[in-house]
Amino acid sequence: MSIGLNIENLKNSLPKEVTLVAVSKTKSNAEIMEAYEAGQRVFGENKIQEMASKWEALPKDILWHMIGHVQTNKVKYMAHFVDLIHGVDSLKLLKEINKQALRCQRSISCLIQIRIAEEETKFGLPQEELIELLEAAQELKQVKIVGLMGMASFTEDTNQILHEFDLLKLLFDKTKTQYPNCSILSMGMSGDYELAIEKGSTMIRVGSKIFGHRNYS
Ligand SMILES: *Cc1c(COP(=O)(O)O)cnc(C)c1O
Repeated sequence: MSIGLNIENLKNSLPKEVTLVAVSKTKSNAEIMEAYEAGQRVFGENKIQEMASKWEALPKDILWHMIGHVQTNKVKYMAHFVDLIHGVDSLKLLKEINKQALRCQRSISCLIQIRIAEEETKFGLPQEELIELLEAAQELKQVKIVGLMGMASFTEDTNQILHEFDLLKLLFDKTKTQYPNCSILSMGMSGDYELAIEKGSTMIRVGSKIFGHRNYS
């Protein structure tokens, strides 16, 4: 299957209110252009410098999403162009995003990453700390918090995954009543996006199902 066909098939299978982020980390500009030619405009990367060099080289109507963990000292390399930062999990990071957005005279949209997986290794804010962070963020005029993001455990146990997505959806619904701008729920990857959509995801981040397996060598 070609990348273009994968994109078309996937898009046709999605409810129209679900946004597809094509996760292009480690993939070449030529591969990204194949998806672009098939109409895809939203791409996700997990390394800031890699994303910045792709932004430089590729068409400027691409919307670049940072989906990985963000180091505070690297925000400056993407502040002038990033469309959405998915992995925000601390006030310190939000403050730096605010500062860099101000320097670029723009506002930057962010999702708060919530820790939903049972695994120890995942990044993300414990859900009890969300409201406090949202309150504090109101002072930061250059950042817009537009939703939540989460990653389920890497497991074959479908019930476990559904349970974790459920937790995030509940928190999302609760948050939205108090913060109506919180309208994006980013959950679901190649292995679990169908479950995520079933549980109310509005944005899925799909890499290998579009581009094939990644080669990190
Ligand atoms: C790599 C990555 C994805 C995409 O993973 P696939 O399994 O290839 O679809 C989604 N979200 C995040 C945060 C990632 O790092």
